[in-house]
Amino acid sequence: MDFDLFVIGGGSAGVRCGRISAGHGARVAVAESRFWGGTCVNVGCVPKKLMVQAAEYGALAEDARGFGWDIAVRGHDWAALAERRNAEIARLAGIYRKLLEGAGATVFEAHARLVSPHTVEVDGKRVTAKHIVIATGGAPVRPTFPGAEHCLVSDDLFTLKRRPERVVLLGGGYIACEFAGILHGLGAKVHQLYRGRLFLRGFDEDIREALAEEMRAAGIDLRFDSDAVRVEKVRRGFIVHTTDRRMLEADAVFAAVGRKPNVAGLGLEAAGVAITEGGAIAVDEAGRTSVPHIHALGDVTDRLNLTPVATAQGHALADTLFGAKPRTVSLENVPTGIFTIPPIGTVGLSEEAAAKRGPVDVYLARFRPLRHTISGRDRKTLMKLVVDRETQRVLGAHMLGEDAPEIIQGIAIALVMGATKQDFDRTIGVHPSAAEEFVTMRQKRPDPLAEAAE
Ligand code: NDP
Repeated sequence: MDFDLFVIGGGSAGVRCGRISAGHGARVAVAESRFWGGTCVNVGCVPKKLMVQAAEYGALAEDARGFGWDIAVRGHDWAALAERRNAEIARLAGIYRKLLEGAGATVFEAHARLVSPHTVEVDGKRVTAKHIVIATGGAPVRPTFPGAEHCLVSDDLFTLKRRPERVVLLGGGYIACEFAGILHGLGAKVHQLYRGRLFLRGFDEDIREALAEEMRAAGIDLRFDSDAVRVEKVRRGFIVHTTDRRMLEADAVFAAVGRKPNVAGLGLEAAGVAITEGGAIAVDEAGRTSVPHIHALGDVTDRLNLTPVATAQGHALADTLFGAKPRTVSLENVPTGIFTIPPIGTVGLSEEAAAKRGPVDVYLARFRPLRHTISGRDRKTLMKLVVDRETQRVLGAHMLGEDAPEIIQGIAIALVMGATKQDFDRTIGVHPSAAEEFVTMRQKRPDPLAEAAE
């Protein structure tokens, strides 16, 4: 065999798996055909977060006036932001490649494809490997209605030369909600259409409702039970025709209607690697495919599509295969942040999911954060704990408000350790902070079911 490990895909999962395996002494090759660092670094988490931060400054500058600052906001230079963001992304992508080379891995900047269970064709060569890892990630789904070819997808935000003045966003997932905050914050008129009753399906309902309120209060035109049926190109931009018979004018229409695993052109059949009905690579808990020496990690397996999950899976597999430390990654109590404005931080079960398992106590706090008592901005923070009534174990913690993703990271440790409500209660708060509310919530929300029973 030419290599102990051949990794197809140089994103979060692939780079971590390759680098750690090489560190364990394995002979490693990694192939990447588009960009080192994958979606997260190049067209996902990192540039997105920089755009969110850019979007927040406008409102922060306004808020500063309440604190006595004499600030006038004259506008935003999209091109200047794009230039600095792109420079940082190029630097990071370079670091990803260097990390691999520094660890002693061979890198290929080319498409790789399986031609047999142990053979990969890359850059016009055939190489053999004892283990193969597929970590090719995912790509945006494109809608199919008439005129869908006029829609942009999330990747395109990062190549736009100027700010679109009028934007229609399709979808109610992470990406559509985050893009709404970015584009609105940078000065566009934003319409967001979601086909269902309430966006962010699967997240805690109180949080979803509160976010919708905040976004509407900020001036985003948020429409539920509404979807695009056709996009028409007109002289100046586009017209989006909707299921509720509206016609929305736009300079840019973004479709953020999900992502699909990148499995095309990988030669999966040649190697005998099975895929699921949904088109993802089928794997067990350890990432093993239908071919035992071929593993798949990250978004191409379409389980919990989050960068830190992918990197953890890559690390665990490297330790298992070459570090004599076999382990898998638990997908329970994985915290996540949604970088909407304001953001969400969440870990564990929503109230709705927890209630399906048994009776729960719910603690909820909604308050105006200290900053906004002076800024004058009408914004509320929502914090919520979902507690198993019998064991008093905290099953879910959810927050909508400034710094929520930062705060939820620490709370996630408590949940992973199995903390009870009493553990939260005996923890002293950090004052004055929003975070302290998580350890001072004493008032249970009345349970309508229990009251009816009494
Ligand atoms: P999601 O799967 O989160 O959301 C897709 C949205 O599109 C849903 O609201 C869905 O509605 C809707 N939708 C799906 N199909 C159609 C259709 N045919 N017509 C109209 N609407 C449709 O996908 P995203 O693209 O937002 O994000 C992809 C993944 O990337 C996320 O699941 C997440 O794992 C990851 N991500 C994580 C981020 C973070 O950690 N902050 C940020 C961005 C992405 P419905 O609910 O009714 O099915």
